[in-house]
Amino acid sequence: MTQSITTPYFMIDEQKLLRNLKIAKQLKEASGVKLVLALKCFSTWGVFDRISPYLDGTTSSGPFEVCLGHETFGGETHAYSVGFSESDVRSISNICDKLIFNSLSQYQAYAHLAQDKTKIGLRINPGFSYAGQDLANPARAFSRLGVPATKLTLNLFNEIDGIMFHMNCENKSAVDFVHQLGRLSSEFGAYLNQVDWVSLGGGVLFTWSDYDVALLAKGLKEFSERYQVQVYLEPGEAIVTQTTDLVVSVVDIVDNGKKTAIVDSATEAHRLDTLIYNEPATIKESMVEGKYEYVIGSCSCLADDQFCESRFDEPLFIGQKLHIQDSGGYTMVKLNWFNGLRMPDIYCRTQKDEMILLNRFTYDDFKAASSKWKLLE
Ligand SMILES: *Cc1c(COP(=O)(O)O)cnc(C)c1O
Repeated sequence: MTQSITTPYFMIDEQKLLRNLKIAKQLKEASGVKLVLALKCFSTWGVFDRISPYLDGTTSSGPFEVCLGHETFGGETHAYSVGFSESDVRSISNICDKLIFNSLSQYQAYAHLAQDKTKIGLRINPGFSYAGQDLANPARAFSRLGVPATKLTLNLFNEIDGIMFHMNCENKSAVDFVHQLGRLSSEFGAYLNQVDWVSLGGGVLFTWSDYDVALLAKGLKEFSERYQVQVYLEPGEAIVTQTTDLVVSVVDIVDNGKKTAIVDSATEAHRLDTLIYNEPATIKESMVEGKYEYVIGSCSCLADDQFCESRFDEPLFIGQKLHIQDSGGYTMVKLNWFNGLRMPDIYCRTQKDEMILLNRFTYDDFKAASSKWKLLE
């Protein structure tokens, strides 16, 4: 069956998704934490009916994500943005349960637009973080992400219901995270005593193999009991990590000093983080000790656009399919039409081993992305 599907395409594996979701459920049961899916990482709503029974709702980074979460996921809808306009706030104020502001000025300008039932939150920048690269480090110098501690006053918390901290990126250590909880307590304890809920953001990779979920759960439970708050996490990558392949075909092989297999996809268009974080992809068919080495090159015009360098037991050939692993998070949400490449279709392989088509992109989609109307004569 897979043979008749044309590349490139994403293949979300339901079974692998459920593995992550079961760990999420264990974490919730052991700690009392609520989990809201960060849609900026993954918003392929065609599979949300499978995910929503395990989580509590969604969180957003912009107004359209608020609408999507409300419409397709349900549960609690958290609305956050680094910068809301007044019309953004008006357009979402009746569909969000929590409205979280990034700065004091945004809070002062728009909190009054919230409905009575909507809870108001403020993002605080704790001034420390776990993040590999500066690009993704919320606590970098002069960060615009959240209110710094120096600008907080106790009476601010008479009107604010909750706090959001987000300071992790792919943190695979429960020990490290629990240490962060200790720092939050010692530096922000007075404010934590004033609020009803605290979101500890995303970037906690609790589904990673060997992650100490029990230690994380214990830390979260103690934190929530100490301050009598409902604790939230906002996982994105943790939910979709290791669930999805980007399947491509080799369309050419050139040797200009290095053997390069050119595939019918590009990091710049379909797997952008490979490029911006300079993190090579992994190919399922590769072998660490393989005799044949190739650059897996993109079919974009950008000179340094490649997925990785990999070794194989057999020479690659034109028409061969390669599975680029772990391509679920921060990929489909960032697809773009650069070079007019064919955009990957999106499939879910269900537990019954059926391939269900969730999205297919056409030339008309490409054309419409550039203009919908043209100048009159
Ligand atoms: C990016 C982000 C998340 C999700 O991060 P993951 O690393 O995908 O878990 C959650 N909350 C906020 C505020 C974010 O900016």
